[in-house]
Amino acid sequence: MTATYRRIVLARRPQGPVTPDVFRLEEVPLPSPGPGEVLVRNHFLSLDPYMRGRMYESKSYAEPQKLDETMIGGTVGLVEASRDERFAPGDPVMTQLGWQEYGVADGGSLMKIDTRAIPMSAYLGPVGMPGVTAWYGLNRICEPKPGETVLVSAASGAVGSVVGQLAKAAGCRAVGIAGGREKCAYVTDVLGFDGCLDHREHGDAASMARALRDAAPKGVDCVFENVGGVGLEAAIACMNPFGRVALCGVISGYEGGDIAIRNVPALLVSRIRLQGFIVSDHMELWPRALAELGQGVASGRIRYRETIAQGLAAAPEAFIGLLQGRNFGKQLVKLVE
Ligand code: NDP
Repeated sequence: MTATYRRIVLARRPQGPVTPDVFRLEEVPLPSPGPGEVLVRNHFLSLDPYMRGRMYESKSYAEPQKLDETMIGGTVGLVEASRDERFAPGDPVMTQLGWQEYGVADGGSLMKIDTRAIPMSAYLGPVGMPGVTAWYGLNRICEPKPGETVLVSAASGAVGSVVGQLAKAAGCRAVGIAGGREKCAYVTDVLGFDGCLDHREHGDAASMARALRDAAPKGVDCVFENVGGVGLEAAIACMNPFGRVALCGVISGYEGGDIAIRNVPALLVSRIRLQGFIVSDHMELWPRALAELGQGVASGRIRYRETIAQGLAAAPEAFIGLLQGRNFGKQLVKLVE
């Protein structure tokens, strides 16, 4: 075992779009686990859009990321040393150790994962927080009925890809929005969506709405919104009466983009229910959702894709890429060769 390890801290808060210099890579001594604690070697780090929100000083639904402390984040890895009898060296676990190669966690905060039929990295994607987010927003807010049309933005991404596949399994028509032809081809040809709009081909909401009417000829019943801005405005313009919007994220506004909705009267006229949600408010549903998602991935019914950056030092650029749409599927950092 090594005497030191590397971690990345937030050195200062970004003013505008994130730049690599807001982070600092440090080498620090390896800690020993105390009673009830476990030392884990992280194999994969999850990069997620919510991390951008935590970099602001103001509190939102969670406390901000502290300066000079390890960047937060979900991780999967193997137990190296344990002083909790429930865990032994070599056990694969999922936890929240953040942007670092090793970390000590309270045994109660670790979840053992079964990597026999499901790859370790999938526990940060379709069988982890993004998958549960898709499951919750679709099943509990959209509540789709067979024959309805579900529209999903950021459709090739970690959350969106699962939403569309669950919507298809529920007997719905699934239409995605994604950035670029390659992503759209993946959404329809691999994930099985019925259609996909390339948002780069539409400069405004009116143009997007025209294309959406072609892709969703019976109108849109459920919108699973990950992006905000013109896509959401177009979606609202095409919604059927009593449609539902699961407001999951507004990534196009995380670095200061315009996410104003200009057709609010359509919400009233079509009697739309728009509900925001945070997946961590619903921990009681995670075991059920994870069991269903795990079966889907193990059986090959749920397909997914990953973009994997190599080594901890690559995390800042990979995170910036995620905020600019350069990732294609779940963005991960691989920490062990
Ligand atoms: P993704 O894997 O979907 O990656 C982000 C994608 O967003 C990019 O690939 C890009 O896709 C798109 N994107 C990025 N910037 C922009 C932009 N300026 N305009 C348009 N599209 C953009 O990420 P996740 O699946 O992890 O997250 C998707 C959404 O879900 C985010 O909004 C996130 O905050 C939210 N979320 C919410 C949770 C909750 O509890 N409410 C929990 C987890 C995630 P493309 O190239 O196709 O445009």
